[in-house]
Amino acid sequence: MAFLEVENMSLEFGGVKACQNVNFSLEPGILYGLIGPNGAGKSTIFNVLTGIYAPTRGDVRLGGESLVGKKPFEIAQKGIGRTFQNIRLFKELTVLENVMTSFYSSSHTTLADMVFQTKKFSSEEDEIRVKSLELLDVMGIKDLSDVPAGGLPYGKQRKLEIARALGLNPKLLLLDEPAAGLNPAETRELTNLIRDIQKARNITVLLIEHDMGLVMNICEKIYVLVQGQLVCEGVADVIQNDKRVIEAYLGVD
Ligand code: ADP
Ligand code: MG
Repeated sequence: MAFLEVENMSLEFGGVKACQNVNFSLEPGILYGLIGPNGAGKSTIFNVLTGIYAPTRGDVRLGGESLVGKKPFEIAQKGIGRTFQNIRLFKELTVLENVMTSFYSSSHTTLADMVFQTKKFSSEEDEIRVKSLELLDVMGIKDLSDVPAGGLPYGKQRKLEIARALGLNPKLLLLDEPAAGLNPAETRELTNLIRDIQKARNITVLLIEHDMGLVMNICEKIYVLVQGQLVCEGVADVIQNDKRVIEAYLGVD
């Protein structure tokens, strides 16, 4: 049994078949790529995996347990963290507070502990602060911890979103175009960082990325989605030489 399994998954929006009979599985500790032209359904797959949309048909299982019908926060607690194609941060909160919020969702503190500011609450808060600062350090933005998130340059907001996703201590991390809007040097730096984190924490990462060369470089296995259907999977060599992939990207008949 694979760690994450997607079985015969379809999702339709009105007449639009965003995902059609998608089947794939992910093994622990591997860095996967998910590529495909615009509108192929890549972000929709992430939205299904994280409970934002329920599939029209089919199943998604994590460790053998179906995630269909579960709420996004429940799925996050079960160990799937993500970032969004369009950055979603709490813009008025500081960089540090943004990361701390994700730790609270898995904390054992009760509302009463918070209201009465019990010892348990303050010692847990200290611990969360330390762990959050560690994550900001890993992402190279610790010096900005007191700045409001909305005031960060774009590339650093992308890094903060990854730090916040890591605060959930995910087993599976879904990154939706984390390098979108970055220049080539920033893109290379961020991608290397993603690979280093994936290896150091031995987590599974599924990365949506436009830059084919970059995906080929760092991903151990790549899935190609075209018009809602998975058309090819394999290592970089296989993908690069696949007729359907070349057609999808070059538009040849
Ligand atoms: P990708 O991330 O590969 O660019 P998306 O998953 O965003 O593609 O979109 C796949 C298809 O599903 C597109 O045709 C898109 O317009 C459609 N789609 C995505 N989300 C919605 C939605 N909430 N309502 C209606 N159509 C949607
Ligand atoms: Mg997308």
